[in-house]
Parts: sequence; structure tokens; C-alpha cells
Amino acid sequence: MSTVTVAVCPECDNPIKLRSTLMPGQLVKCGQCGEILSLLTLTPPTFTWASEEFDLVQKQKRDLS
Ligand SMILES: [Zn+2]
Repeated sequence: MSTVTVAVCPECDNPIKLRSTLMPGQLVKCGQCGEILSLLTLTPPTFTWASEEFDLVQKQKRDLS
């Protein structure tokens, strides 16, 4: 069974095919606008800006310390 999963770029709405090995948190570059995106969830397939994800991680680190 091979399913092609597609998620749209939040920046330019370009549909991006997800490799079957792609896991949430991994980074993908949009082929259309060049934005670095982070896969947020697989169900549904959703991308967010990698910089935004990075900010969230930084905030979590601050809250823990
Ligand atoms: Zn894009």
C-alpha cells in the first residue's frame, strides 16, 4: 500500500508531498517559497514555520528551568 500524503505550506499554500518516513518535528523546505517548515502533526498532515516551532521549544526550555 502506498499512500501519498500531502500537506500545504502555511506560507504559500503549495502542496508538499510527505515522505513516508517523515515524522513530526522534522524539517522540510518548501520547493516553491523556500520556507523551512516543521511537520507539526501527521493527522491531519500540518506544517508550521520551523522558526515558530523553534520559539515554542525555547519557551518550553525557559519554563522548565
Ligand atoms: Zn511555500
